[in-house]
Amino acid sequence: MIVVMKPGSTPENLSAVVKKIESAGLRTHLSKGEEVTIVGVIGDKKIIANLELQMMAGVDKTVRITEKYKLVSRDFHPEDTIVEAGGIKIGGKEVVVMAGPCAVESLEQLREAAQAVKACGAKFLRGGAFKPRTSPYDFQGLGEEGLKLLRKVADEFDLRVVTEIVDKDDIEIFCKYADILQVGARNMQNFQMLKALGKCSKPVMLKRGLSATISEWLNAAEYIMSGGNEQVIFCERGIRTYETFTRNTLDLSAVAAVKELSHLPIVVDPSHGTGRWKMVAPMARAALAAGADGLIIEVHPNPEKALSDGDQSLTPEAFKELMSSLDGIAKVMGRSIS
Ligand code: PEP
Ligand code: MN
Repeated sequence: MIVVMKPGSTPENLSAVVKKIESAGLRTHLSKGEEVTIVGVIGDKKIIANLELQMMAGVDKTVRITEKYKLVSRDFHPEDTIVEAGGIKIGGKEVVVMAGPCAVESLEQLREAAQAVKACGAKFLRGGAFKPRTSPYDFQGLGEEGLKLLRKVADEFDLRVVTEIVDKDDIEIFCKYADILQVGARNMQNFQMLKALGKCSKPVMLKRGLSATISEWLNAAEYIMSGGNEQVIFCERGIRTYETFTRNTLDLSAVAAVKELSHLPIVVDPSHGTGRWKMVAPMARAALAAGADGLIIEVHPNPEKALSDGDQSLTPEAFKELMSSLDGIAKVMGRSIS
């Protein structure tokens, strides 16, 4: 349930409402907008149903929220949330681009990629150090050494780091090296890890599961937020469908759906979303037109030699061309490329 306070209500009205809710053993979540203040009520449904708040001074109305996710919901927090990672804002006017190789392979490879993406305006360096590969015989990543390389190279080029975490026991190490912890599609419903990330101080980018509905995805984010970490960014990366031409079907309607249902920012990954480098640029442009707050794109200095996802990786030249085509779309959307 949410309690909508009247525009002219006083701080005393608000604290009386909060006190009544909390003394019933429920939790509150405040959202102070420019016009109205909303008190989100979380806890036992039966207790909530018996709360009599409508008649209290300063209360405009109470509204039942039927969805299971609350903190993630736009009903709880009508204004857009801006997540700040390493001093970069995601979800504001500027569209943020994250780019780099699928996997960290070597210092040289990462440096070349970082230099190329920085020169074109990317703000984050991406790269996996712990790779969740489909086959156990494929390159599994450099592990902690990869994280160290990411931090070192990102700092050399004044970039921030976004990288995937696959084990809740690694959170502390990741917090040392990364600015955003990425939860990959395969771990979207790793609830133990989501709960642990709820206790961590770094922003989390939650990718959509391979076959996850939007509701399941939003509930996964609720796990993180309900633990206390409210810095969550969604990432649409394509879902499984009957189509085989593309690796996944990039569901750009999810951008509009998430914008309607949630206040959290959303980034689009056209690389995993298509699996084909030639489709990355058109889908990246479409993502901005759909309202995405950012893009995450795989770029490799030599895609043919990549140890993972070469088919969907852009060369530095192709990335440059893509970046120069984004300005116009960003402008039409009332935004700019960072
Ligand atoms: C990745 O970003 O390299 C990755 C493995 O993505 P996803 O979890 O979307 O497959
Ligand atoms: Mn990849």
